[in-house]
Amino acid sequence: MIVVFTPEATATEIEAIEARLQESLPHLHLRRIDGEERSILAAVGDAQAVAELGLGSEPGVDRLVPIGESYKLAARMSAPERTSFAVGNKQWGEDLTLILGPCTVESPESALQAAELCTAAGADAIRAGIFKPRTSPFSFQGPGRQGLQVLEEIRQRTGLPVVSELVQAEDGPALAEVVDVIQIGARNMQNYPLLQVAGSLGKPILLKRGLAATLDEFLQAADYILREGEERVALCERGIRTFDQSARFTLDLGAVPLLQSKTHLPVFVDPSHAAGRRDLVEPLARAGVAVGADGLIIESTVSPSTARCDADQQLDAEDLQGPVTRLRKLRELI
Ligand code: PEP
Ligand code: MN
Repeated sequence: MIVVFTPEATATEIEAIEARLQESLPHLHLRRIDGEERSILAAVGDAQAVAELGLGSEPGVDRLVPIGESYKLAARMSAPERTSFAVGNKQWGEDLTLILGPCTVESPESALQAAELCTAAGADAIRAGIFKPRTSPFSFQGPGRQGLQVLEEIRQRTGLPVVSELVQAEDGPALAEVVDVIQIGARNMQNYPLLQVAGSLGKPILLKRGLAATLDEFLQAADYILREGEERVALCERGIRTFDQSARFTLDLGAVPLLQSKTHLPVFVDPSHAAGRRDLVEPLARAGVAVGADGLIIESTVSPSTARCDADQQLDAEDLQGPVTRLRKLRELI
């Protein structure tokens, strides 16, 4: 249930409602959001019991609106306005944000070189994985904790925020110390204990859509993070599995405007993992911008064809200026 306050409601009136809910229904999850115009209070857990409290006629309360969707805190109506938050110099959710960088830290030298080239090309943030969830246990799994220092160095040398994936809960605090945004990969979208840990690390989260997840499941996964109190969550459409195997995955472009109608959270697009092949990456990136994505995450490295991970899809970091310029121009046009 959403308690919508009047624009004139005083802090005391709002606090009185919060206290009443806490005392009467201690199991409820309460999330108060103070918007520019008015405050709202999402009370998630037992809509019927909240309705029975008859809060609609209390001072300061405008109306009570039930959240009809399966997802609650991520629902569009659970926030008075769209969520946006600062990461480095960009406001995620407002500015087009380009996250560029290698799939994986393969060596400190190549990762740093790639990060510097991406920075020169105009990246807003650098991506680089050190914990890699690989389909085969025999594939290169990334440097693991040894790569933490490389991430720190990328941040220092480029001055840009760093985005990197968390795979195991126990690595969370160490990763959170050296990155600005924690990525949760597609394969872990429904790893609920991991989502809970991620939501308690005090860092913004980039949550990727599972390979076969519906949008409702995706948004309920976001709820696991939001429920921990982390409100800086961005979603990322990265391609889903369909009957058509022509590309690695099928980029679900419709998901972008659909998500934007269902949720207040920013929506990114990952054309790299969706395409699985270099020649499709820029066209799909453009399509992402065209449908209104708030940002893109694009794998780019040095000598991509010899990369140990995702060699077929990474862009050459020496050659990013053109795509970056075109994507920004396209955004301006829109
Ligand atoms: C990645 O971005 O490094 C990655 C593994 O992507 P996904 O989780 O979408 O497959
Ligand atoms: Mn990759």
